[in-house]
Amino acid sequence: MNIKTRFAPSPTGCLHIGGARTALYSWLFARKNNGQFVLRIEDTDFERSTQEANTDIINSIKWLNLDWDEGPYYQTKRFDRYNLVINQMLETHNAYKCFCTKQRLDGLREYQRINGEKPHYDGHCRNQCNNQDDNQIHVVRFRNPQKGLVIFDDQIRGPIQYHNTELDDLIIRRSDGTPTYNFCVVIDDWDMKITHVIRGTDHINNTPRQINILKSIGAPIPHYAHLPMILDSDGKKLSKRHGAAKVSWYRDQGYLPEALLNYLLRLGWSYGNKEIFNIEEMKQYFSLNTVNKSASTINSKKLKWLNQHYINNLPVEYVSSHLQKHLDNKKINIHLGPRLDDLIKLLGKRCTTLTDITDSCRYFYEEFNEFDSHAATTYLSSASEETRLLLGSIYIKLSILHNWTEEAIKNIIKSCADRLLVSIEKVAMPLRVAVTGQIKSPALHVTIHAIGQARTLSRIEKALIYIVNSQNQKEYQ
Ligand code: GLU
Repeated sequence: MNIKTRFAPSPTGCLHIGGARTALYSWLFARKNNGQFVLRIEDTDFERSTQEANTDIINSIKWLNLDWDEGPYYQTKRFDRYNLVINQMLETHNAYKCFCTKQRLDGLREYQRINGEKPHYDGHCRNQCNNQDDNQIHVVRFRNPQKGLVIFDDQIRGPIQYHNTELDDLIIRRSDGTPTYNFCVVIDDWDMKITHVIRGTDHINNTPRQINILKSIGAPIPHYAHLPMILDSDGKKLSKRHGAAKVSWYRDQGYLPEALLNYLLRLGWSYGNKEIFNIEEMKQYFSLNTVNKSASTINSKKLKWLNQHYINNLPVEYVSSHLQKHLDNKKINIHLGPRLDDLIKLLGKRCTTLTDITDSCRYFYEEFNEFDSHAATTYLSSASEETRLLLGSIYIKLSILHNWTEEAIKNIIKSCADRLLVSIEKVAMPLRVAVTGQIKSPALHVTIHAIGQARTLSRIEKALIYIVNSQNQKEYQ
């Protein structure tokens, strides 16, 4: 069988991670089986669909590198096709026109509510002839079988059955002539020869209705797999409105697509205890049989851990290309500092996201006008005479260093401390504050090496002036 899957988002909101996981599983299933993957935009809800959401969805899927073989198809461009099938269904009596007024339907609903029944259409127009005046307002309903069961073997949950008595006659064309969502899905899955429908569990109740329509038009029934929900850390359903759940949010926060994909893969699927999967391994091992049946919970710590892994293990040119975008956003010009591969080596083990790296690297590239005030108060204003002397002697040694290497810098710091009988710890923090302006940085000799000789010297000089000024001020007080 030629496997064909699809991802069919409605552009009523940005792509959130639940949708991205559905896309990933559908994509993986197709790729693993040498099949095809279709992208279809289900934009029949005119009021809620937006161009902005459509663009976000497509950009997010591209960013995740989930390439598609066909599409994007847009349902709004296929209305003629849907109407053609509806007209055929009217002719074959698989569908009928319903002329019930809003008033009647409201009354019916109220009656059912009072009698404790689930709201459903009572089939009033089902057996009336279709020859009523077409100009009279009507919808078209699917003639759902009234007896028997609909059974399907969900690829994740196992066999599921519905009684046809639970399913009423679904509207397939509205009174304004537009086809409805459930109907379009069916015709698309048929026309696009989809063999496996992989989608969220929130669609499970649509499946028996869709199967009945497929049967009535003699179309093959695809396999269905309904993925469990993703819950937020409070155990609540992730909503599209939840900002942090958008794929673009993760991109902007400095996550790599590989990390998000690996995270989403494991969020609801497992392969023994293995946590890290590159794309080839994902394709090799993925299977619908091992998708969890129960809901999964977001775990941001794990995502960070994976992101850090990928920052440090993916080819450095690749990570650099993503990092460059973040640096550009923050207007950090890297021409006067370490190359990006060196920057990743410097900060990759200390940062979990690319924005962390961006936020922590400015001192390598730009002068700072002021020391961080807490750092300056703690380590410079109160520096002892001993510290000042030590910084001074390190300054002199660094200024005459010809071979600017990490090793040589390390030796200078150590020998100066030894000579003044001071521990390295005593000078490490003031020196760090002097050269970076703050209290956190990679190992000092490595940091100083990356900052470069001229900049290091001018910054130590500035710190020495700051210390002297603070000492003088104290004397006058
Ligand atoms: N358009 C639906 C959604 O965004 C998905 C429908 C389907 O996969 O069948 O939830």
